[in-house]
Amino acid sequence: MSFPRKLVLLGATGSIGGNSLRVIRRHPDKLKLIGISAFQNGEKLGSIAREFGVKKIHLSQTPSNIPELPNGTEFTSGAEALLDLASWDEADMVLVAVVGAAGLPPTLAALEAGKDVVLANKESLVVGGSLVMETANRTGARILPADSEHNAVFQCIQGQPQKSLDSLALTASGGPFRNLPLEELSKVTPETALKHPNWIMGPKITVDSATMANKGLELIEAKWLFDLPPEKLHVLIHPPSLVHAIVKFKDGCCLAQMSPPSMTFALQNAMLYPERHTGVDEGLDLSASLDLSFSPPDMERYPCLKLAIQVLRDDGSAPLVFNASNEVAVEAFLANRIGFESISSIIEHSLNLFEHRSFSTLDDLLYLDEEARLLAKQAIVKFA
Ligand code: NAD
Ligand code: MG
Repeated sequence: MSFPRKLVLLGATGSIGGNSLRVIRRHPDKLKLIGISAFQNGEKLGSIAREFGVKKIHLSQTPSNIPELPNGTEFTSGAEALLDLASWDEADMVLVAVVGAAGLPPTLAALEAGKDVVLANKESLVVGGSLVMETANRTGARILPADSEHNAVFQCIQGQPQKSLDSLALTASGGPFRNLPLEELSKVTPETALKHPNWIMGPKITVDSATMANKGLELIEAKWLFDLPPEKLHVLIHPPSLVHAIVKFKDGCCLAQMSPPSMTFALQNAMLYPERHTGVDEGLDLSASLDLSFSPPDMERYPCLKLAIQVLRDDGSAPLVFNASNEVAVEAFLANRIGFESISSIIEHSLNLFEHRSFSTLDDLLYLDEEARLLAKQAIVKFA
């Protein structure tokens, strides 16, 4: 695909949205922002629209006041209009930075329209991996992974045939409670869980990193993106977050990708692929010493990761139930309604009680997702 690329950014007001805007500001000759969306923050969206002169803006929730917009900018709201923006014929590339399973319908709409999709949203592949991959394969649309670990794998496998891959490891910092005595996990509060040692991210993924549900979601994401069986997908704790993934090939050689913990590296790599240009943030200083320590995770400390590894073997509704119950539980934890350790209890409870079945359409999936959320909401009361 040639440059400049006309880009639609869904979830423009979030943490990934902000880092994406930094990349766009750095490369105005290569990337033209033409459409943006957010859930409800019209004021922030309006200011992005004015800075970049975007042509279309969308809010999921209809606001009481429509934000002040540049002349000629079209404003829409509601679920259907988000799909129209994701499949807008003027766009070359759609960056999905929406949080949660809400990212799935626009991802499918963009792929259905044959757009290149820069995928930061991981939940869409977790809940609808088969639909996402089938749609991309059918329309020929490309998925450019922007989650840092998956972008790292993507970089390592360029020019390597699929049959040469043996296995891979995604790295994890271990989060803020990596060294906390296990008996103190029950005292963890949203304030402490939201202090990630290396990354600045949105609240949901920051809690997911503390429980390592995030790495579980990423294993499922990797299964779909790189077509490897569950036993070939590994996790390694690497506290400094410099190496993002390691790929092992059939001949036993490994390649790894390294960059400081900022999402601009992965986002720029995906947005400008296959070109490389000066980045937004400084890369690693190769004249200084580097901490390259790796160790396998302690499953007793990270029960959400243990559950995700069980779910990884299931191509039916288990990943969807894992994700829905995690989203509901994290929201309840952030609202101080349940304790930190109840997050894994609610996921386990939901996985055990859900009447699992397979699905083949988006409507069926959304119906099951709703059912799984209801079950998890009932469990909130039990585990409060
Ligand atoms: P965030 O909460 O900071 O931002 C989310 C964005 O999505 C906001 O613009 C918000 O308005 C919008 N949004 C929220 N709910 C929505 C809904 N129901 N419908 C439409 N739009 C909605 O989240 P984030 O940290 O930027 O993460 C975004 C996605 O990227 C997540 O899937 C996350 O797992 C993934 N991701 C984030 C990081 C990171 O560094 N933050 C790294 C890797 C992957
Ligand atoms: Mg990641």
